[in-house]
Amino acid sequence: MKKYGLIGRKLGHSLSQELFETQGFKDASYGLYEMESLDGLRQWVEQEHINGFNVTIPYKQEILPLLDAVDDMAAEIGAVNCVSVEEGRLTGHNTDAPAFKATFVEPFHEKALLLGTGGAARAVAYALRQLGVDYVFVSRHPKRATAKPVIGYDEITPQYSVIINATPVGMYPDIESTPINLSSLTSHLSPCLVYDLIYNPSTTLLMRQAEALGTRVKNGLDMLCRQAELSWRIWGL
Ligand code: NAP
Repeated sequence: MKKYGLIGRKLGHSLSQELFETQGFKDASYGLYEMESLDGLRQWVEQEHINGFNVTIPYKQEILPLLDAVDDMAAEIGAVNCVSVEEGRLTGHNTDAPAFKATFVEPFHEKALLLGTGGAARAVAYALRQLGVDYVFVSRHPKRATAKPVIGYDEITPQYSVIINATPVGMYPDIESTPINLSSLTSHLSPCLVYDLIYNPSTTLLMRQAEALGTRVKNGLDMLCRQAELSWRIWGL
């Protein structure tokens, strides 16, 4: 039996195990492994006989120095969401970026507002560069942020045709939160598309506010499925 799984700090929101189990892979299981820290990551891989795993919030960047190798795309992004294990050797990959790219319908937007500066935001930024879409990260701490270009939430101006939420704000169980209050920003911000990477709940408060303004919305479910398929391919399933 081959063993796969997802590591992250809190995994109550995750659909990854259900998604894996609907595939009917032979002799393969997928577990959810909540970890308070990445201390002991290698012991976990060895003791559990893990063949590959996905990485989620908040470990996509922190895991890099713990790996034996990182592929070129993940190295350029600076974040890993998929790890393959071959004879005890851990190699990092990024399937979030191609998954976002494949699911970013109508990528003709001129300028994107990218909320967050973590692992997912960096993968989205990589995909946007490939698509030729200009973007700016939005951070709570723009002066400290290493992701560039970056502005603070109080510096948001009207020119953005798409808003992408790559923060966990609004995710289960904290479903009445939103990273930006679109209703109060409408006097100067009216995007054509709000793409929220969150998929649980399927409609976030940010998406509800956008819909009330007549803005098209998309949640993170397609991206989740796509990044999972790409991970399974990397693992040879
Ligand atoms: P992460 O590495 O921890 O980064 C999250 C970023 O969001 C942080 O860097 C932070 O940026 C910002 N942030 C965190 N808490 C915040 C708060 N309370 N208010 C405002 N901003 C906050 O997490 P991640 O792995 O990038 O994941 C981010 C979200 O994307 C999660 O909800 C995750 O489930 C989702 N995601 C979905 C998919 C999918 O396939 N659908 C794939 C990847 C990720 P600043 O400190 O700069 O503000």
